Amino acid sequence: MTLASMRANGVRSLWAVCAVCHHEAVLNVDTYNEAVTIPSFGPEMVCTCGGIIGADVRPNWSELPQGRPKNARSNVGNDLQQMSR
Ligand SMILES: [Zn+2]
Repeated sequence: MTLASMRANGVRSLWAVCAVCHHEAVLNVDTYNEAVTIPSFGPEMVCTCGGIIGADVRPNWSELPQGRPKNARSNVGNDLQQMSR
């Protein structure tokens, strides 16, 4: 999936989770080109749990009004950061 198709679905940010400690973060991707694919963000994420590189990244469906209840997150921190390019 690309950012273009995600935006077409009404979602403008990504949700990332660390594969090791399950820290979560929402990533604002408004400045990225619509041709960028969502999986391409995964290897660029770094977790604060100890510099673990790589995270599971997916559309932040909880942005949608109708939502996806089991994915709804009320306490999302910023435990993951994107590596500088
Ligand atoms: Zn972690």
